[in-house]
Amino acid sequence: MIFGTGIIKGMLVTLKAFLASYFKGPHEGGIFTVEYPEKRLAEKERFRNFPFLLYDQTPENLRCVACDICAKECPPKCIYIVRDFDKEGRPLKRPAIFDIDFTVCMNCGICEEACPFDAIFMDHEFEIAGPDRQNKMLYHRDDLLKSNEYFNKIRPTDAGAIDARRREAEEKKKAAAAQAVKAKTTQPQPEPPKT
Ligand code: SF4
Ligand code: SF4
Repeated sequence: MIFGTGIIKGMLVTLKAFLASYFKGPHEGGIFTVEYPEKRLAEKERFRNFPFLLYDQTPENLRCVACDICAKECPPKCIYIVRDFDKEGRPLKRPAIFDIDFTVCMNCGICEEACPFDAIFMDHEFEIAGPDRQNKMLYHRDDLLKSNEYFNKIRPTDAGAIDARRREAEEKKKAAAAQAVKAKTTQPQPEPPKT
């Protein structure tokens, strides 16, 4: 090898990137400075920061059933869940408390992967800095709630696929229930006892 070839190759890479910065956008390999916060680039769909809890239509319809799986799977154990109960003390399929300590969360996305109910997803939002470290970064259930419309807006590919799967499962469930009712009504009735 000729002495200095590596340096020339490196300089060519630099030159290529320098020239590309004039002709390509930031997502096509170009490099330029964005004057944040006045300007902000759109995040890629799979960009992830902290998790949020998803609800359908209204915040009362949150999908989380307080199964605790995400809390168990979370590597730094920063999720804390307490199940809700009704007035008679019967357990409900929803959390009374759902806290995430964002000072501990490491943005791994394992909670999203582990949730069997499509209830927790990684958010794009990152402008959450504040002066109060102890309270501002401990997010409670109501702080974490975001709608399915919001999810569709930030991650249309994933949200669309999940919505389609859930719709299909719901239709199958309805068809099975209708089939069961039909089978019950068409069953031959037992003969009345002879007197
Ligand atoms: S977010 Fe998902 S995994 Fe976590 S408690 Fe709720 S339903 Fe279970
Ligand atoms: S993103 Fe990772 S660290 Fe953060 S709450 Fe989810 S599982 Fe825990």
